[in-house]
Amino acid sequence: MDIVEEIEIVCPQCGETFTIEVETTQPRLELIEDCAVCCRPMTIRILCEPGAVVEARVTAA
Ligand SMILES: [Zn+2]
Repeated sequence: MDIVEEIEIVCPQCGETFTIEVETTQPRLELIEDCAVCCRPMTIRILCEPGAVVEARVTAA
């Protein structure tokens, strides 16, 4: 089983779409990423099952 899933994230501040890799071994993840385009931080909250991303929510950090 592939435990790393790629998901698309939309920057809440500039609308740019980009892809992140998520390790689905943890049921809940909270990441803070800087947008590659506008450089502003965002918080990404992810719910996972092993091998799948159930839900990803992005908010301005
Ligand atoms: Zn952005």
